[in-house]
Amino acid sequence: MIKYCDLKEINRRYEPALTEAVTRAAQSGWYIRGKECEQFESLFAEYCDCKYCIGTGNGLDALTIILRAYCETGAMHHGDEVIVPANTYIATILAIMEAGLKPVLCEPYQGSCNINPELIESLITSRTRAIMPVHLYGLVADMEKINAIAARHSLKVIEDSAQAHGAMYKGKRTGCLGDAAAFSFYPGKNLGALGDGGAITTNDQQLADTARAIANYGSHKKYTNIYRGVNSRLDEIQAAALSVKLPHLDADNERRREIAHKYIGSITNPSVTPPTADRDGNHVYHIFAIATPYREELKAHLQELGIETLIHYPIPPHKQEALREFSHLHLPITEEIHARVLSLPCHPAMSDSDVEKVIRAVNSFRI
Ligand SMILES: *Cc1c(COP(=O)(O)O)cnc(C)c1O
Repeated sequence: MIKYCDLKEINRRYEPALTEAVTRAAQSGWYIRGKECEQFESLFAEYCDCKYCIGTGNGLDALTIILRAYCETGAMHHGDEVIVPANTYIATILAIMEAGLKPVLCEPYQGSCNINPELIESLITSRTRAIMPVHLYGLVADMEKINAIAARHSLKVIEDSAQAHGAMYKGKRTGCLGDAAAFSFYPGKNLGALGDGGAITTNDQQLADTARAIANYGSHKKYTNIYRGVNSRLDEIQAAALSVKLPHLDADNERRREIAHKYIGSITNPSVTPPTADRDGNHVYHIFAIATPYREELKAHLQELGIETLIHYPIPPHKQEALREFSHLHLPITEEIHARVLSLPCHPAMSDSDVEKVIRAVNSFRI
């Protein structure tokens, strides 16, 4: 059986360093806001070439806390609008709502599945305060165009980089391509912890200070609370594990790219459209999503041949019960993407023979 994402094999490659780091944290007697978190924050800030990194409890909180911090500093107010791709994972939209702001859903490009900047300007109103591009599947959004629109309308740009650790854009990494960025270290992400974790990166000192306080009960100083904060911190054990894995992230991303390029070059089944190859070679393929009108049939065929696949995502956010108020929206590209995508296994612990097996299985599919 080829698993979609074999976390046991992925993490086994970091032993014994991973167990040593976890043991060190466990035996230290200090579990929250200590040296391990501080060290990881500084390593990750350096990796992203950003001045500040703030560990959080998860990626959803990282997104929410950035927006809440902008509300506290007066850059945004309750009910202001944030433009977000309609086909993102629901977390991006939930974060906007949780911060008291209004998500405005924008259609993506059909090909890259990333937000289509040509459509952003028509969605801008007097209440728009930010654009929140998502580097979906590990491909960086069209940041030059997005930043130009943001500059013209004085909007913040907040990257949802939960699927794109280490991805590059014109020589710079995600995390420093806008005003602030949110990362998730959910175990299955390209940089995954041994549980939940997340981070905010930014070059804006005021935002960094405010976000750090909000994540810690609204407090800079113990028992002095200046914001109605939350409890969302990256714990010492997760930080220790992440510091072991971070130095291998580029090599892991390179292996994901190698697998993806092999898929793109070798999948010849006319019923299947692989993602378009990324010209700059900077895609980090968190997800390798093909498109096919015969998704259920292909999924069953691969399952029969011992290959697990997933769908990212089967239901678009505006069709979710939780987001009923958006159900009237006409978003045909988003709906088409959600109806056709299927994600093939694409992770750094896959062997060449696994990759060959997936290619043969996809090419042998007949409707
Ligand atoms: C995983 C993910 C998140 C949320 O991260 P969690 O750590 O699970 O809270 C947010 N946005 C996107 C695009 C994601 O893929």
